Amino acid sequence: MEAGGADAIHVDVMDGRFVPNLHGGPEWVKAARRATKLPLDVHLMIAEPDRYIAAFAEAGADIIGIHVEVSDALQRSLAEIRRLGKKSCAVLNPHTSEEVLRYVLGDLDQILLMTVNPGFSGQGFLSSVVPKIRRVRKLVEDAGLSIDIEVDGGISVENAKIVASEGASVLVAGSSVFGERDRAEAIQRLREAARS
Ligand code: ZN
Repeated sequence: MEAGGADAIHVDVMDGRFVPNLHGGPEWVKAARRATKLPLDVHLMIAEPDRYIAAFAEAGADIIGIHVEVSDALQRSLAEIRRLGKKSCAVLNPHTSEEVLRYVLGDLDQILLMTVNPGFSGQGFLSSVVPKIRRVRKLVEDAGLSIDIEVDGGISVENAKIVASEGASVLVAGSSVFGERDRAEAIQRLREAARS
């Protein structure tokens, strides 16, 4: 991925509770840290994320994303991520309103909008999330802040332009890159589609 031109590595961590699958963990992130110099964008799809923020920070995550649906004290958790010297990210499922973000904007480096329900790769992009990307961009702009808006799930050359033009600045690609024979070319095509 590094040789193919990726800007960062997005790591999905799944606990078998918040989502049905199991994947990742601090040891996995530690191994990824040894394998690449690219930023590691760690997406925690886990219940009780507060219990593990420090472990993932120590393992080498650069960005730590927690789901607002399972955060009891979102502001505190995001501030804790920053206190550990990492970039903070709040993650919203497709059905979750962006309203919650208003109260934590000052503690955010990145907002991740799920464009599929979390838990499995290879799902279809939910176009119903597109207006939310636009609303979140307005929220961030109105506050005069610089916060990355990331989209994750079903991103492909077909929808990269749409999400980018609505305000997404970070595009996560799974199947649309790993499913291609020439992954460097797939990354290039996605980037070109997003910038077109
Ligand atoms: Zn993810």
